[in-house]
Amino acid sequence: MSSKLAILVHGGAGPHRADDDAEAAKRGCLLAARAGHSVLSRGGSALDAVEAATRVLEDDPVFNAGIGSALTRDGRAELDASVMDGATLSAGSVACVSCFQNPITLARLVMERTAHVMLVGAGAEAFGREQGLRVIANDVLVTEKARLDLARHHRSNGTVGAVAVDALGHVAAATSTGGTTGKLPGRVGDSPLIGCGTYADDSSAAVSCTGLGEAIIRVTLARHAADLVGGGLDGFEAARQAVRALERARGEAGLILVTPRGQVAWAFSTERMARAWVDSRGEGSGFGADGV
Ligand code: ASP
Repeated sequence: MSSKLAILVHGGAGPHRADDDAEAAKRGCLLAARAGHSVLSRGGSALDAVEAATRVLEDDPVFNAGIGSALTRDGRAELDASVMDGATLSAGSVACVSCFQNPITLARLVMERTAHVMLVGAGAEAFGREQGLRVIANDVLVTEKARLDLARHHRSNGTVGAVAVDALGHVAAATSTGGTTGKLPGRVGDSPLIGCGTYADDSSAAVSCTGLGEAIIRVTLARHAADLVGGGLDGFEAARQAVRALERARGEAGLILVTPRGQVAWAFSTERMARAWVDSRGEGSGFGADGV
């Protein structure tokens, strides 16, 4: 087995909230990272690993993705997701889908079974049905906590993402979210936009972002971070510089990245970003500042 196998996941960046359950978020992230790592250690691709890890996070109601998604102004879940393969620069994404539990899998199907990169709304849902994905009622995605957040105008924390490198040195990235609480129906954030919430290129890095989507879009944060690695910066330095670039767009965010050589790195300008990783040195997790 190659020593460079690595996976890093995040469970969203944002402010500390009184009802944060840091342990549940760290535990959920670690379970997802382990699920992705077991794919890698069985010889699976980075793409398979990030999809597997993201599905675990989408299924966990702790996070703002899949079940537990943040709700629109009208109290519905509208999900966005994207995936990118650093080996081929293939990418797939969906936005505003409301009847699937795992939009990351739909995004991958867009990548692999259409000539397109992105499908939205009714067209994306029709494609998912055609592909045989299980259709669920929107209510299945809606938790009591998400309803309370909407009623109390709480900001949602908990978009999810994963980045991985496989034994061949290929990288991949995935991001999935319910978006921002109280968003207008039809709003699309950074998460499904390639180069903004997600980017992967074997010649630089795989990146997944979280935070205020409107700011992340303005600086194309994921591509910016990957380019900094491609230009020779250490992963952590690249992550920090990229997050600093967001100040011009008056936004706070976090990102995770992995390099083709197996370095995992992250940075965030918010108070917290749940995260967990498994790499050649073992596994770990965090929530607030490093070590917390
Ligand atoms: N970036 C996500 C969005 O704007 C939200 C988040 O990461 O908290 O849709």
